[in-house]
Amino acid sequence: MHFVEVILPLSLAKTFTYSVSEAEFHYIKKGMRVAVPFGKSKIYTALVIEIHQNKPSLYEAKEIHQILDEKPIVTEIQITHWQWIASYYMCAIGDVYRGAMPSALLLESETVISQKQDLFVDQSLLSDDEFLVYEALQQQSSLKVQDIISILNKKNIFPVIQKLIDKNIVVLQEEISESYKPKLVRYVRLHSKYDSNAGLGELLETLKNANKQKEIVLSYFQLSATEKTRGEAERSGAKPITVKKLVEAAHSSSAIIKALIEKEIFEDYFLQEDRVNFNGKIREEELQLSQAQQTAFEEIKNSFTQKEVCLLHGVTSSGKTEIYIKLIEEYIDSGKQVLYLLPEIALTTQLVGRLRTYFGNKVAVFHSKYNNNERIEVWNQVLVNSEKAQVVLGARSALFLPFHNLGFVIVDEEHEQTFKQVDPAPRYHARDAAVVLANSHKAKVLLGSATPSIETYFNAKSEKYGLVEISKRFGNVMMPNIELVDLKDKYFRKRMTGHFSDVLIEEINTALSLGEQVILFQNRRGYSPIIECITCGHVPQCQQCDVSLTYHKHKNQLRCHYCGYTMAKPTHCHSCSSVDLTTKGFGTEQIEQELISIFPNSKTGRMDQDTTRGKFGFEKIIDSFKNREIDILVGTQMLAKGLDFDNVTLVGIMNADNMLYHPDFRAFERSFQMMTQVAGRAGRSEKQGKVIIQTYNPNHNTIQQVTNNDYLGMYKEQLYDRQIYKYPPYFRIIKLTLKQRDFDKLKEGTMWLYQVMSQNLNMPVLGPEEPAINRIRNEYIRTIIIKIPQNTSIVNTKKTIQKILNSFEAVAQYRAIKVTLNVDFY
Ligand code: ADP
Ligand code: ZN
Ligand code: ZN
Repeated sequence: MHFVEVILPLSLAKTFTYSVSEAEFHYIKKGMRVAVPFGKSKIYTALVIEIHQNKPSLYEAKEIHQILDEKPIVTEIQITHWQWIASYYMCAIGDVYRGAMPSALLLESETVISQKQDLFVDQSLLSDDEFLVYEALQQQSSLKVQDIISILNKKNIFPVIQKLIDKNIVVLQEEISESYKPKLVRYVRLHSKYDSNAGLGELLETLKNANKQKEIVLSYFQLSATEKTRGEAERSGAKPITVKKLVEAAHSSSAIIKALIEKEIFEDYFLQEDRVNFNGKIREEELQLSQAQQTAFEEIKNSFTQKEVCLLHGVTSSGKTEIYIKLIEEYIDSGKQVLYLLPEIALTTQLVGRLRTYFGNKVAVFHSKYNNNERIEVWNQVLVNSEKAQVVLGARSALFLPFHNLGFVIVDEEHEQTFKQVDPAPRYHARDAAVVLANSHKAKVLLGSATPSIETYFNAKSEKYGLVEISKRFGNVMMPNIELVDLKDKYFRKRMTGHFSDVLIEEINTALSLGEQVILFQNRRGYSPIIECITCGHVPQCQQCDVSLTYHKHKNQLRCHYCGYTMAKPTHCHSCSSVDLTTKGFGTEQIEQELISIFPNSKTGRMDQDTTRGKFGFEKIIDSFKNREIDILVGTQMLAKGLDFDNVTLVGIMNADNMLYHPDFRAFERSFQMMTQVAGRAGRSEKQGKVIIQTYNPNHNTIQQVTNNDYLGMYKEQLYDRQIYKYPPYFRIIKLTLKQRDFDKLKEGTMWLYQVMSQNLNMPVLGPEEPAINRIRNEYIRTIIIKIPQNTSIVNTKKTIQKILNSFEAVAQYRAIKVTLNVDFY
């Protein structure tokens, strides 16, 4: 009797036993995938985690359909790590497996495939089976795996589909609806006719009478000559010359380049930016660290001799990235793999260029927005420890790659809440999960931030982590000078134009007159958050959620930011029919409108969820701001994420108060981080930057701490509150969210659960609470918060919680209530 124990990619906590033949038994290794039947007629890609001879006692083991791999594609360290995630974050191991693997490695009977668009297929290269599938796709736009099983008249078809995916002939349906559009950058080069120098004289001769065209060609030569030594293009790792750059250098227009392309003097070509194969030169001269950086670098290495994790607390623009680069160098020189985690996918493009200047093709990028082929490519490179993926840059999911030889993990901007996955399970924190992963590789972890999270700083102060601090900016640039503007006073003395104080307007004018750029921060998108009836006070609400609708002027609609529901802007009050409607509060869209009328001669741009919807929308705006096509950029917290613009000297925070008064124990910490980070975008190169904060509460402690760059003051005050009110780092928080459409049943069920929890757990249990937004998409919501004290066993507490949840699920009338658990809720 021979069996394998497998994980299924379903929300199931159990593993399952399948039977295999003796030959299969000897062939299969842990970490290989097998196709297995499950339920009545489904087939899934399961992961083998054990090979054994113990017959299951509760059910008859079914046979596997097929072995899918020749070698393990998941390592034992990964399996252990995934099991840790499942147990710590209280979710099913199947959820972790499903979340960790690129979906093309998890084919199942429900998977739908389609033919790739605009494709030339050389049919002679297809096997018979592949051809049959291909042919069927000429008749039907998409096929289910089930259909293919009947077309090929056999069960074992995953390898056939896998081959077609590898050959770039078919894609999974989900990707099509995602409409993945990689950013393509347009480059020019001399037409191949002019490959040899011989043609050049002749070329210039033909342009004798076309001065503008000749100028461009000369600029092109100049650029390709200087390119080799220094400059931006080298930093971005691309020796080729972009159309944009050439237009700039020649002070010309793309129309003239177009003419040259038509004349076959130039030809253009496109490269996908973050996938550009590095063909530039690796920087030859060594990176010179400043004295402060060098000291920090040595302190970090020293700390690593004693501790596994070190926090690098360096003010904004202190040059943390360069310290990372120096450290990475040491680890890859000794043959180790390096993982570099970022909070935001959009930041990878900026950074990948910077890293490739030093490490060339050893840098790979991995994130969920890549298509399956690209993700599988990186997965395999990491698996075989290829040089091409020695440094992996990615957002939180890069944590799940099959590292063999991980030596060093960087978590940049470690305080960012985007490291915590909210939905679906596993609701893990990538920073914390990275520390655990590193531990099993005996690798070191560096957490970097200008505004560390309270938890991390606490770990550093209590000497669990090492702590290295840099308090000066690189190049001795001064920290920005922060000025507070009291809004109450300004409104009273009628010194406001729209939402702009006279001080802010004057500073913007000064910056613009010097050719410098401005960033304005407003933590709300839309035009103005709500429309209110002056007569009766009615505010239009979403029909499905318990929130007010937000007014978007551009589309003249009201929109729900939770479910996407929209309606046209009403002309009269739906409650009393009055036509006296007014807007209250303001968002980025309104700020942008006001800018246009106050500064009619400058170019404005807006960066928020509405303008960055497309996959690369974010980068487009960043690029045009970098290229100075935008003078004033207004945006939401997206602006606070570690961007480096050298020409920004002024940052304005339109209203500091709405951040401060969020009903959340992290509100002050977050406000401090957000304002300090946004302020940190000012004055990064030579000139000292200026920050204007408009507020009704200039004396608020948090605002004072931001103004005085007083991280420690903020930390101490918050820590004190956290202790008194029983929050992290003194207590671990588990948040239970219960949802159901039936309000009364939900109320009853939540009360039951709350009472059993508080009777059986010897610790604070809060609730059942109605959250500020208590209905989303027609489901009512209640929450329960459990606070586990530091000195209590987390493992035992979670066991008790799980037991109670099991009995809750066994109660028939509560079965319709959905419960989700968020451990270390952020
Ligand atoms: P941080 O990540 O700490 O905010 P960065 O690493 O982005 O800071 O550095 C800020 C700026 O200073 C960047 O433009 C960077 O290129 C420059 N810089 C930092 N260190 C060096 C160095 N050793 N040599 C040259 N330029 C540096
Ligand atoms: Zn009304
Ligand atoms: Zn809604």
